[in-house]
Amino acid sequence: MTQHHVPEDLPTHLQHFIGGQWVDSIGGETFDVLDPVSNQNYATCAAGQKADIDRAVAAAKQAFDSGPWPRLKPRDRFRVLNRIADLVEERDARLAELETFDTGLPITQALGQAQRAAENFRFFADLIVAQADDAYKVPGTQLNYVNRKPVGVAGLITPWNTPFMLESWKLAPALASGCTVVLKPAEFTPLSASLWAEIFREAGVPDGVFNLVNGIGEEAGASLVAHPDVPLISFTGETTTGKIIYRSCADNLKGMSMELGGKSPAVVFADADLDAAIDSTLFGVFSLNGERCTAGSRILVERSIYDEFCTRYAERAKNIVVGDPHDPKTEVGALVHPEHYAKVMSYVEVGKTEGRLLAGGSRPEGLDEGNYVSPTVFADVAPTARIFQEEIFGPVVAITPFDTDEEALALANGVRYGLAGYIWTNDLTRAHTFAQNVEAGMVWLNSHNVRDLRTPFGGVKASGLGHEGGYRSIDFYTDQQAVHITLGPVHTARFGATR
Ligand code: NAD
Repeated sequence: MTQHHVPEDLPTHLQHFIGGQWVDSIGGETFDVLDPVSNQNYATCAAGQKADIDRAVAAAKQAFDSGPWPRLKPRDRFRVLNRIADLVEERDARLAELETFDTGLPITQALGQAQRAAENFRFFADLIVAQADDAYKVPGTQLNYVNRKPVGVAGLITPWNTPFMLESWKLAPALASGCTVVLKPAEFTPLSASLWAEIFREAGVPDGVFNLVNGIGEEAGASLVAHPDVPLISFTGETTTGKIIYRSCADNLKGMSMELGGKSPAVVFADADLDAAIDSTLFGVFSLNGERCTAGSRILVERSIYDEFCTRYAERAKNIVVGDPHDPKTEVGALVHPEHYAKVMSYVEVGKTEGRLLAGGSRPEGLDEGNYVSPTVFADVAPTARIFQEEIFGPVVAITPFDTDEEALALANGVRYGLAGYIWTNDLTRAHTFAQNVEAGMVWLNSHNVRDLRTPFGGVKASGLGHEGGYRSIDFYTDQQAVHITLGPVHTARFGATR
């Protein structure tokens, strides 16, 4: 029997937060929210419709047009953002407990994500006080400068994997830039998003700056994307959803940032530190239950070490502790939702026809309820296989051998995605040559995903459009107006002059 930890004071109904008030949908619509260990509904959640989005956008627009937030000095916004970070850190245990309950992520990893969320606020607070904009002098005639302005009401649409941290990744730069926001979190996991409202209020964010509308993507999300008073959309989610949003944004020529799916390669050359590569490639695909956009879900291994790698990798995968997400010993918890569980399990079945099963391949023994999948390893996977090409977004990995650097690169690049790449070699020339040629927005040499918040974040090909991270995020949420000042006489053609 699976243990089932239920947090104390668990809300049984979740609402929208609009203009500083907790409200239900105008029409009273709700949807059910379940937890992934029992798969029982534990709460109802207000289901936002167009009318609710209209109300939230109106509150955000008013706060933008006439409220103090966009007009604050950067140092004053810095103080509020750091108070937000302090509050997130003070509440990290509770945040992690609720996030784990709602998502099935292992508690130790949810705690790390809460701390990352705090760090995102501190980082963007630092950036805005250090922000400098360009000035250009044309000697004797002009001085031109950049007048940076927040764009307006930012529409933020987020997925269910690490929801609180990914929301912070958008909220922090949007608020730091002086935008007001409407957040539409994923319908599978609305619980932690509602914690932002109290945190922001306590930190001193004025009413109307942060608005939260829960709901189904095709209703609440689509209404937010289509709203004429929302000039930009930051979206993280599936590539197919990204395409729908892209089309809708075209009607209003909106600014867009898209962080989409991935099928990232981890390439292990024979000269690599094999112990480190095995630790890292295991963590890279099985952490966060494999529900990770940057997961290294295809491992390409040089033929001379292939058998040893596969044997050692599979032994370790079989030992991964799968279980109650609230147990600190758990390494892989429960997948977010029965629908997602069914999708991942269907890929596991496909994989059995496409590769050699080395570990997992089923539900773990003794865990009869909940969305548990044993860490699953397939070897000898051909590049045409669906489990090589398609994002599974669960604890499933495909291993494929290669003989030459050229073949490894062709395999690495031979999918439609291009989010991350992980390269394992001790040969400096090979490392850099490969890194520069791999079609991925982000590359790590001899490591899994360890972020430096200043660097660009984003994918190429079907993995995204635009890069966030560091000042790029501030650029996204601001307009850079060019102001030209004349310092001397300007040569002007005298149209219509008679003398
Ligand atoms: P999803 O696309 O199903 O949903 C994401 C969000 O979009 C949800 O809030 C959903 O309600 C909303 N949505 C759905 N349809 C919509 C529509 N028509 N209009 C407006 N909004 C709509 O994605 P998901 O299943 O929640 O998340 C998993 C996906 O996210 C994976 O593909 C993963 O790779 C990707 N992801 C990418 C990154 C990255 O940074 N590149 C990070 C995390 C997750």
